[in-house]
Parts: sequence; structure tokens; C-alpha cells
Amino acid sequence: MKNKEKWVTGEIRLSIEGQPLEMQMTVPAKPVKLRRMLPIFQMMTNSIVDISARAVEAKGEKISCKKGCGACCRQPVPISETEALEIAYIVEHLPSKKREKIEKRFSEAVEHFRKINWFEKLENTATAPETLQAVVLEYFHEGIPCPFLENESCSIHQNRPLACREYLVTSPAENCSKPSAQSVKRVELLFLPSKILMRIESREKKRFPFIPLIRALEWAKENKNREEILRTGEEWMESFFRELTGDEIPKGR
Ligand code: SF4
Repeated sequence: MKNKEKWVTGEIRLSIEGQPLEMQMTVPAKPVKLRRMLPIFQMMTNSIVDISARAVEAKGEKISCKKGCGACCRQPVPISETEALEIAYIVEHLPSKKREKIEKRFSEAVEHFRKINWFEKLENTATAPETLQAVVLEYFHEGIPCPFLENESCSIHQNRPLACREYLVTSPAENCSKPSAQSVKRVELLFLPSKILMRIESREKKRFPFIPLIRALEWAKENKNREEILRTGEEWMESFFRELTGDEIPKGR
């Protein structure tokens, strides 16, 4: 099989709140959809999470998250449009029995939250952001697990959304079953790639950027004919770092 795709490699050196961050990245040379950049954003998120976890542990704190603990997987996971399309693609390519089971979970979860008008409350947080925490907690208290949760483990671990990767806590694991701003201590990351990705999208389309994971399949279906913007890998990375730093990124490697 021939792979004629061309790639470019560059180095990123940043200092965020005094902490140096160096990464080497290889991105597509030709114009691609933003979705094509998702593996790079996932890799970057993993690096940021590792750096932040090491910094926390160096201070003597311990990360409580471990395999088999899925308490946080009952929260509304905020995803970008790019991730909604990716999730729809993943589900579409599952073996048929598994696909039917997962699709049923998605539609039951959407139906449940639609019945209690939760999506409307979420939309309203765009103009009343102070209500967001209460809306998130309301979702959690309904106790509906993520459609991908199997035996309290993530069944799409390698492909899980950026927000899932970014969620680490140092408070006792049992506190995640009854979360509040006081009982759950999250590891603070240098920055949140999930939010930057949403900001890139909202800058491009000027719309409310937050899609709850359970709406991914529905959203992808509703938007299957929309036009997707094409940019080179370098241009997408420039947008990413422009959103992160607020600065124009000089060209050249
Ligand atoms: S995608 Fe995986 S990690 Fe994220 S909420 Fe669902 S089960 Fe949990």
C-alpha cells in the first residue's frame, strides 16, 4: 500500500506560567479537516497531563484515578464538534451487535435528559455561566453512565475525548461518587487542549461550542452534510497556539 501523504515536523517551545514545555510534532503538509489533527491534540493532551501529574506527585500528592474507577464517567463530558464526528465514526465502525448496544445507550441517555429539559438548561448557561456548575451536578445526580462505560472502565480508552484525558483528581476516589467543588480536588493542568479545540471551532463558526458527549451521534447525524474547513497541519497548529497564547506564531522551523 502506498502512502503518498507528506508530513512536516516542527518543534514547539513554550513557557507557561514559568514552566517550560517542549514538544516535537509531525503534522500533515497538505490541507486537512480539523478532525485529522485529533490524534495530535490527543498526544499533546497526554503530555500535558503527564507533566502536570508528575508536578503534583513531586509535591507529595497522589493521583487517585485508576483503572476500574468510572465514577467521573457519569458527568456530562464536554466535547468539540470534531470529537462528536470522531465518536460517531468510532460507533459506526463497531461490530454490529456492539454498535446496536452503544447506539441504544446513546439514544436512551438523550431521551432521558431531553425529558427533564437538561439540554435547554445547558444552552442557557451560554448567557448565564454562573449556573453551569449546578447544571453539571444535576446531570451527575441522574446517575446515567457514559454509553462507553463497561464494568466501570472506558471501552474507547485510546480514543476517549480530550476532556476525559484531562480529568485527574487527588482527592479520595470515593468523593467522585458525590462530587462538589469542595470534595473533589482536580489536578490543574498547564492548559486545557479540549477548550482550545472548542475555541478554534467557535472562532471558525461563531456558535455555542459545547456538545455533551451523549449528543455526539445525534449531532453528527444532524450535521452530516456540513462543509468542513481545510487547513494545513501547520495552519491548524498555528490556530491552536494562537488560541493558547493570544499571540501570532512566527512562521518557520
Ligand atoms: S468516554 Fe470513556 S473516559 Fe470518557 S466518560 Fe465515557 S467511559 Fe468515561
